[in-house]
Amino acid sequence: MSDINSETKVYGVIGDPIGHTLSPMLHNAVFKANGINAIYLPFHVKPDELSGAIEGLKSLQLGGLNVTVPHKEQAVYYVDATPNGLDRAIGAVNTLVLLQGKVLGFNTDGLGFLDDLEEQFNMDLKDKSAVVLGAGGAARAVTFSLIQAGVTHLYIHNRTHERAKGLVKYLVSHFNDLHVQIYAISSIDEIKIQSVDLMVNCTTCGMHEHDPHPVNPDILDKTKTVYDLIYAPRETMLLKEARRHDIPSANGIGMLLHQASIAHRLWFPEVDKKQIYSIMKKAFEAS
Ligand code: NAP
Repeated sequence: MSDINSETKVYGVIGDPIGHTLSPMLHNAVFKANGINAIYLPFHVKPDELSGAIEGLKSLQLGGLNVTVPHKEQAVYYVDATPNGLDRAIGAVNTLVLLQGKVLGFNTDGLGFLDDLEEQFNMDLKDKSAVVLGAGGAARAVTFSLIQAGVTHLYIHNRTHERAKGLVKYLVSHFNDLHVQIYAISSIDEIKIQSVDLMVNCTTCGMHEHDPHPVNPDILDKTKTVYDLIYAPRETMLLKEARRHDIPSANGIGMLLHQASIAHRLWFPEVDKKQIYSIMKKAFEAS
């Protein structure tokens, strides 16, 4: 961040609550390193103020906004367009760009997840199988990405089974022309293949010290790798179990950094993605 003056562009993140967000640290580190006259701020926006906050992008001529919990799904209704068809289908946006007076919405979570999977496990998802825990917003982005990347067998397990079934139905209707078999399961016994290549925890379960296991730990005998979207704490109970079973695993820090880098590039396409990622990673590690 350079000295603030009349030319300083304002970026930010809107959420409720917003105190926990790491986004200002990450984006301001890139502004500082690249000598960009901009500042990135957290904005506490209540649900009934969301439309006004998004309109504010135009009236205040902000540089851009990120959208975080719980607004990602609702924000889709207030943007002028979602240029990427997949983001529209996912039904959630986390990055807003102001272009020629219009607010465009994008979702960088899925791409950030895929980038980190490649970095952590060097995994080519073509013809692979995966089990996803959870059926909320993050699970939606992750399942869309896994299918796009070529998985052929996808199992969805959620505490509320009806919700898993709803997600399967939606995915099947969206990807009916692709060769992917998608199942809502309520127990690991329903996974008929010997082992899945990847298990992804997309639940919030594991964020708090006394959280139960998001799924019966026996499921770990059925998977070759484990990815947990949660990044605080850095090692959830699920990741501890994976370590105990000698299963390669990763937490969601890389996804967080990759999705933030992709968002930053939507505002500054001329800046190299690897450079943005590396600055953000250093800032995160120093925090
Ligand atoms: P969400 O829409 O609120 O969904 C929460 C999910 O967790 C639901 O499937 C819910 O099941 C399940 N769940 C909650 N408590 C549970 C419990 N005690 N046992 C089993 N399942 C439980 O949340 P979200 O936006 O998808 O976010 C999910 C997680 O992903 C959060 O931890 C978030 O921080 C993380 N995330 C990380 C990144 C990253 O960059 N690393 C990006 C996005 C999200 P029910 O349907 O039964 O309620």
